[in-house]
Amino acid sequence: MANLSIHQFICRSDNFGVLLHDAETGATAAIDAPDEAAISAELARLGWHLTDILITHHHLDHVEGLPGLKATYGARVVGPKAEAGKIGHIDIAVEEGDAISFAGRAVEVLDVPGHTLGHIALHLPEEKLAFVGDTLFALGCGRILEGAPRQMWTSLVKIAGLPGDTSVYCGHEYTLSNGRFALSVDGDNEALIERMKEVEALRAADKPTLPTTIAEEIATNPFLRASAAAVKQRLGMASAAEVDVFARLRQMKNDFKG
Ligand code: ZN
Ligand code: FE
Repeated sequence: MANLSIHQFICRSDNFGVLLHDAETGATAAIDAPDEAAISAELARLGWHLTDILITHHHLDHVEGLPGLKATYGARVVGPKAEAGKIGHIDIAVEEGDAISFAGRAVEVLDVPGHTLGHIALHLPEEKLAFVGDTLFALGCGRILEGAPRQMWTSLVKIAGLPGDTSVYCGHEYTLSNGRFALSVDGDNEALIERMKEVEALRAADKPTLPTTIAEEIATNPFLRASAAAVKQRLGMASAAEVDVFARLRQMKNDFKG
């Protein structure tokens, strides 16, 4: 099976639109539906017909385009079972353990509550692809808007357990501001320092910093480094539990004026 084509583009102000396309079958999936007009324009430009919409969570900036896109293309909509009522328009409501497929490829559903309580991530193991919405970001993680820190931590650990060479697509281009915070708590991390130089160059050229990989995030994302001695010491939490270090990091990021 040939690889899927992936097209990623910015829409709204800092949301990513992502389209997956299988040339053999013509199947095309949108990951989330942030912006009907932007997604329709990209589909038209590429000559792709939307067959599937895969929704990660209920926030408006991920579902606002859903009714219009579904009506225009008749696409099959997959979304989180726990948020199906809020989102509407869902044909296949899924939760962890459910097996779905896209263009003949297995798609695994992971429950990753924390940013929202029903948030899901989608993993295509054969393609080494993961779509994590607003749970994990490059050098950061989503705000804990509905869940508790322990839930978010468990969700991040679950995502971090995917194979290191998995390409990770996230809901937003937040990497530069995330990285400034990361340096403030993990400033001696050489891998982080090097990565931030690349991130700054990409953003200066108006290029996206995503996708990332699981291995890159494990090495540089402070929220996945809550067990690293350097981070714990920086926070004065050398002997604290990882989940408590994570909760403190998340609070510090909320208050960070970078
Ligand atoms: Zn969100
Ligand atoms: Fe979002």
